[in-house]
Amino acid sequence: MIESKIIQQLMESNSIAIVSHENPDGDCVGSMLALYLALKRKGKNARMFLKSNVPKNLRFLPAAENIEVVDRIDVKFDVLVLLDTGELERTGIENIENCYSKLINIDHHVTSEGMGDLFYINSSSAATGEIIYQIVKLMGIDNDKEIATCLYTSIFTDTGGFKYSNTTSITHQIAGDLINTGIDFVYIINKVFDEMSLSKFNLLKDVLQTLELFEGNKIAFLTVTREILKRNGASRDETENIINFAKNIEDVEVAAIFIEEEEENKIKVSLRSKYYIDCAQVAKEFGGGGHIRAAGFTSRNASLDAVKENLLRRLKRDLR
Ligand code: 5GP
Ligand code: MN
Repeated sequence: MIESKIIQQLMESNSIAIVSHENPDGDCVGSMLALYLALKRKGKNARMFLKSNVPKNLRFLPAAENIEVVDRIDVKFDVLVLLDTGELERTGIENIENCYSKLINIDHHVTSEGMGDLFYINSSSAATGEIIYQIVKLMGIDNDKEIATCLYTSIFTDTGGFKYSNTTSITHQIAGDLINTGIDFVYIINKVFDEMSLSKFNLLKDVLQTLELFEGNKIAFLTVTREILKRNGASRDETENIINFAKNIEDVEVAAIFIEEEEENKIKVSLRSKYYIDCAQVAKEFGGGGHIRAAGFTSRNASLDAVKENLLRRLKRDLR
């Protein structure tokens, strides 16, 4: 069983680094922290690295303050664990390819092929946190409230609160198990999902004004310019989930949000669909990836208008 091999490798290693993707989300941070805490419980020397800051709404999570935000890694670890992405480049961390002896990749994206010495890619898992849940359990760690808090966050965020089509009965069983450890899920959900800073509230007001609708309202676009972010004193991670407002409009099948990054002509695009558009496929064609109903890509060499035009043309082809 691949999980046992992964655990064996981790237990044989003295130094372990855990990394995940740029612009981290709840699943990324939650699964990193859960694995980190489990390894610590086993007396292992583990460290966590991210290129971007931990989003504000996730900073309450246990051990979140131990995540090191870095541009590059120059230390060598026995094992590097890459979570929630199948591409080392998506960590955005320089020199990462030279910082390990063995690489373990754990992910749930349908577009991930798996990489490294050991990999476990399960696209039927709603979140990477579901896979980490199994691994932690197999490590013999049960009923750990701190780990459960992180895993619940992973699963809650990646399923949009058990609402997205990736949610399964197993997702609910795991969530039930996590609740049985006594976690304060009301607090977690409020912190992670509902509560927002005033700057996020103001950002939301402005971004909603950018709505563009096409093809009889089946396609919806939202735009976050650098200027909008700056004007509201909002951080990049506060754009998370705004896309759902566009997706939720009646008649909309697919929504996209275009986020201007610091670098000129670098635009992050997120895609969400309601019933049939394969976002993973579309994102893949633009050099990205993800899941069938939620995917994304980054465009690096075209103007905002050109990216919109290209995507609109591509999405029109799949409309029914
Ligand atoms: P989001 O749009 O919220 O950034 O991401 C939606 C889903 O698509 C996430 O599971 C995320 O990991 C994936 N995704 C977003 N951007 C990229 C990308 O550039 N490449 C790949 N492979 N996946 C992406
Ligand atoms: Mn995920």
